[in-house]
Amino acid sequence: LVARMREFGTTVFATMTRLAVETGSINLGQGFPDTDGPEEMLERAVEAIRGGFNQYPPGPGVPELRHAVSEHQKDGYGLDYDPDGEVLVTVGATEAIAAAVLALCEPGDEVIVFEPYYDSYAAAIALAGAVRVPVPLRVDAGRFAFDPGELAAAVSPRTRAILVNSPHNPTGTVFTREELAAIADLCEARDLIAITDEVYEHLTFDGVEHLPLATFPGMRERTVTISSAGKTFSVTGWKVGWVCAPYAMVSAVQAVKQFMTFTSSAPWQLAVAYGLRHDMDWVASQRASLSAKRDRLMAGLAASGFEVLRPAGTYFIQADIRPLGFDDGLAFARRLPERAGVVAIPTQVFYDHPEYGARYVRFAFCKRDDVIDEAVERLKRL
Ligand code: PMP
Ligand code: GLN
Repeated sequence: LVARMREFGTTVFATMTRLAVETGSINLGQGFPDTDGPEEMLERAVEAIRGGFNQYPPGPGVPELRHAVSEHQKDGYGLDYDPDGEVLVTVGATEAIAAAVLALCEPGDEVIVFEPYYDSYAAAIALAGAVRVPVPLRVDAGRFAFDPGELAAAVSPRTRAILVNSPHNPTGTVFTREELAAIADLCEARDLIAITDEVYEHLTFDGVEHLPLATFPGMRERTVTISSAGKTFSVTGWKVGWVCAPYAMVSAVQAVKQFMTFTSSAPWQLAVAYGLRHDMDWVASQRASLSAKRDRLMAGLAASGFEVLRPAGTYFIQADIRPLGFDDGLAFARRLPERAGVVAIPTQVFYDHPEYGARYVRFAFCKRDDVIDEAVERLKRL
């Protein structure tokens, strides 16, 4: 393995899911739902396969999906993207993020990321030979947030891009209008591009709304907006994602994508196009159901002795383990399967400075109520 990839090892999700299977534990680690997305959308995938839609689709994505994504950005956020040239279909958001970083960052360029960060960001930056510059999110008034002064201080003459994930995995924070405006102002002032990971765009709660960074003044022209179908439609195994950006940036990302995967699987693209056009009511009901699951797991974790933070979005709750008499989340999470038969993710693995996240573990609540209840029963015996 090349030196620049050696620090990454196996992803924490693979490790913890294997541990869950080996120990027969309830897996509240890796974030995937245990019920599938809308029936009609699933049916469209079957129809696409039976209907002979099984050969290479066009590299940028099938027109139906590019048009549906363009309409989704327009109807939801008032953002205009030309489906022919400003929308690119990718193999999940993961490929979109990697291809965007590889296409837009030279070796030695600095990329700002908020830590804790989703693990693929650091690897994508390393693959590009770029340099990650972490800016911490710290718990303030019950949520993880950044200090705008600290963010501004992280920008140097070598800074090329800032990678922004909101709603944010693993903290559950949804950046506010003020926070996004601060990021936008900095991008303008220092001539940075923004790469935004919006895969949880529809999974926000308590009336909190997701705001794409590209909607802020001056930002559409310097933002690569990324999302995917996995979370929105509870089909994380389909791996259909997309990029929306101005022509030049999409064409750069496509130049890389064509040699990573050339194109993305055909049948799922048609099904996701259908979902974006016809299943947004399902998405709204899913959001309500997830919000109830969040409350259910939060209450259970609190009753088990954790101090819990209330996430405004995503699948994840951060729980502080100190009231239970522990202070190292990594050691805690490693032993949790054998002690309680439950798997969680130690938050510190998402940091360059693990000490900042040492006291937290991440629990996923995108599970059936009976699964959440059983996990809570087990955790109460800790
Ligand atoms: N970004 C974030 C923040 C995620 O949590 C995930 C994982 N689900 C991804 C990207 C990857 O998305 P996809 O499965 O579409 O590649
Ligand atoms: N996004 C999911 C999570 O954070 C898992 C994705 C993965 O397994 N790579 O749990």
